[in-house]
Amino acid sequence: MRTDIEFPTLLQKKIYSAFNGRSNLNNLSGLCAQLIAEQQNSWPELGQAYESLKDVRARDLECNGFIVCLQYNPGRMINSLASVDRQDINERMCFLCIENLPPEQKGILYRDEYIILCNPRPVFRSHFTVTHLDHSPQAIAGKIDAFLQLAADLGSGWAVLYNGPQCGASAPDHLHFQVVPSGQMPIEKVIVDGKRLVSIAEVDGVLPSRSRNMGREIVILAGDNPVTLGSVFKRFLSGLQKVLSIHEEPMMNIAGFHENGVWRLVLFPRAKHRPDVFSREGDEQVVVSPAVIEMGGVIITPMERDFERLDAPLVESIFREVSLDAATVDKAVAKCCS
Ligand SMILES: [Zn+2]
Repeated sequence: MRTDIEFPTLLQKKIYSAFNGRSNLNNLSGLCAQLIAEQQNSWPELGQAYESLKDVRARDLECNGFIVCLQYNPGRMINSLASVDRQDINERMCFLCIENLPPEQKGILYRDEYIILCNPRPVFRSHFTVTHLDHSPQAIAGKIDAFLQLAADLGSGWAVLYNGPQCGASAPDHLHFQVVPSGQMPIEKVIVDGKRLVSIAEVDGVLPSRSRNMGREIVILAGDNPVTLGSVFKRFLSGLQKVLSIHEEPMMNIAGFHENGVWRLVLFPRAKHRPDVFSREGDEQVVVSPAVIEMGGVIITPMERDFERLDAPLVESIFREVSLDAATVDKAVAKCCS
């Protein structure tokens, strides 16, 4: 926890409300709704961003075995083009540390450890960034408990999202999650429906499954005990590290849901952050920078030309390129489920 002397004063100025889980007076979902309504009024940039969201264009695209929703959202240009170069990140001011937030931005102090903030560049009708109070690197293994707790505190109307530091996190140097309404990503229908899922043997009360023929590799872990679910998740992470012979966090995007006492972790193991078409020059460049929302089936592009020209073969090839291959994922699943 930060110990600098001015931190409590800085934090106090940024707190709109607080949720500590110790009383039922404050329902987290309700607090989030209040925060977004208040911030749209008091923070002009956010009000404008939500106004612009009304003009966002979307269209469904039927790919081989799955559907994606393309979203043309010019407001996401900064996110899509964000530098992932380590030196650039070290040299820039961290935009998630509370002393650097816009003066109008306030949030919900969450369990004394995080602050829930309105994302100034929303993709959906509500979009939050949940940032740790400390400036500590984006890493999931030690924070999966908090991720699951947040999903439970929010309840069934929400999805909690995580982007790995090398595959979509716009601030890899500052731990954060995102929260968006549930039901927005096409992958959610596939999971609820269950017909496309292949179950794997239960392990410690956790039900793992794989989704087949979805154009990218997906592992789902479901369970009603956050401790065992967290531990099976960590075994999967270390299984991937062994299979890939790496020590750092395996590239992964995660969406988490909690409904009727059951958590679902939807994992997208990755091979690569951005597809080759992203690095092409001039008109050849396709500005799609896949992170968790894209892997969930909502492909955001800030460029109108890409919104119009993206077709099924291109989306399928982007997914194939950035997703980890099935054989490697199978080996990691075998390691966590044995
Ligand atoms: Zn920071």
